Amino acid sequence: MLNNTITLTLLLFAFGACIGSFLNVCIFRIPEKLSIVFPGSFCPICKKEIPFYCNIPILSYLFLMGRCKHCKSRISFRYPMVELLAGVFTVLLFVKFGLTAQLFFWMCFVYVLIVISLIDLDHQIIPDRISIPGILIFSSSAVFIPEMSAVTVLAGIISGGGILYAIAFVYLKFRKKEGMGGGDIKLLAMIGAATGLKGVLFTLFAGSFMGTFAGIAAMVLTRGCHGQLKIPFGPYLSLGTILYIFFGEGIIQWYLLTITGY
Ligand SMILES: [Zn+2]
Repeated sequence: MLNNTITLTLLLFAFGACIGSFLNVCIFRIPEKLSIVFPGSFCPICKKEIPFYCNIPILSYLFLMGRCKHCKSRISFRYPMVELLAGVFTVLLFVKFGLTAQLFFWMCFVYVLIVISLIDLDHQIIPDRISIPGILIFSSSAVFIPEMSAVTVLAGIISGGGILYAIAFVYLKFRKKEGMGGGDIKLLAMIGAATGLKGVLFTLFAGSFMGTFAGIAAMVLTRGCHGQLKIPFGPYLSLGTILYIFFGEGIIQWYLLTITGY
């Protein structure tokens, strides 16, 4: 029994890391509007194709000591980190949900959040190519997640898109400039499709809290000399949602208990 669990955990980690390898391709190619299927992996510097045996998640990076097999240029440390991240989250989700349909749903969801967060960090955009199909695909939470239904999905999409849209509208009206990207609006609508109104509210509070905290930290570290520091909101929304998936119920219970005293 124990042996089986260990084997399954290792297999899931390896599976997640392989998916992570594909996520790297998505992160690199989707903003450039390139196909994510063809051609196979190639070195961004010398453009030579990377043979499959040099494309094993995490391990290849270690064996090649972070350098391209052909031109020896440095490969970003981020590639193995994304693979590691995808592997670790796959295992953590398995620990939380076991081998269930929910596990499959949240795996796909977290993989998409990883891609969105890193593209947002790199380019300050969240591609419609991901978020709009994401809203449709993750509406399947009504089927996969016990506490979700057609009504909660709809409430999640409307509240997720609506709240940020309202904030963006008010901001534009009074400050005469864009404070919130349209990408964030669609991202929170997608998060709403998966987690409902409760998930949207939790994500918004947790994401804003972490974003503000990180913003202050960044301002202190750079001594505020950069004037207007642009911090993408997507990664914090994603972090907030992941926090919700793992600990949302517990945190909400604790919060209500602290507030109301019941
Ligand atoms: Zn190369």
